Amino acid sequence: MEMKRVLLKLSGEALAGDKKTGFDEATVKEVARQVKIAVSEGIEVGVVIGGGNFWRGRESNAIDRTKADQIGMLATVMNCIYVSEIFRSSGMDTQILTPFECGSMTKLFSKDRANKYFKRGMVVFFAGGTGHPYFSTDTGVALRAIEMEADCILLAKAIDGVYDSDPKLNPAAIKYDTISIQEVIDKKLAVVDLTASIMCMENHVPMAVFSLNEENGIINAMQGKINGTVVTA
Ligand code: UDP
Repeated sequence: MEMKRVLLKLSGEALAGDKKTGFDEATVKEVARQVKIAVSEGIEVGVVIGGGNFWRGRESNAIDRTKADQIGMLATVMNCIYVSEIFRSSGMDTQILTPFECGSMTKLFSKDRANKYFKRGMVVFFAGGTGHPYFSTDTGVALRAIEMEADCILLAKAIDGVYDSDPKLNPAAIKYDTISIQEVIDKKLAVVDLTASIMCMENHVPMAVFSLNEENGIINAMQGKINGTVVTA
């Protein structure tokens, strides 16, 4: 797999490291170190970050879901501001785009604008998910990967690939080297949520799943050396 443009998806929890909430600076700096190497090799990198280290809309029953999801989307913006700043302090140029106005904190997303920044060698953060409630950053990354014509979505996870069952519950679980999105859907393996899976399948966007803890895992994946699982579309 040759990668010219990739979208890297990080979960909010991944940013928090062992703390589970907020940010773990060392974890984010390690992500920055690896992304910088990929960018220096000419790979265009977009980043989508979840919000679970702060807030998940569907887990709040106390308030209206639409409002709860708005808080979730803003959590993803906070995450992108933090990670973008760590990337900048590591020597990269970055820009944060959102599907809604955030004043002077971000710029409004458009495909043309994102392309302009990619051409300048900047890392582009797609914050705020899709901008709509009842979606997730999984659907956000699928949508932006399709719009931006990315070669692949790189899913850096706590787990090192896609298994036929949960390896925490089943020690005999088998890891796939390659699996189709159709099979992921049929077997309910939930690599990304169902809406995102269908979008990737219909628009032929492959995904690479690997562990954020793999040494140089992000660089390896961006160079097409997937030690986890390739999900074909
Ligand atoms: N969210 C949303 N629309 C989007 C993306 C995210 O409403 O397009 C909200 C939603 O409340 C979600 C939260 O932001 O729970 C954090 O996003 P993430 O994808 O991390 O959520 P998860 O899938 O872990 O709930």
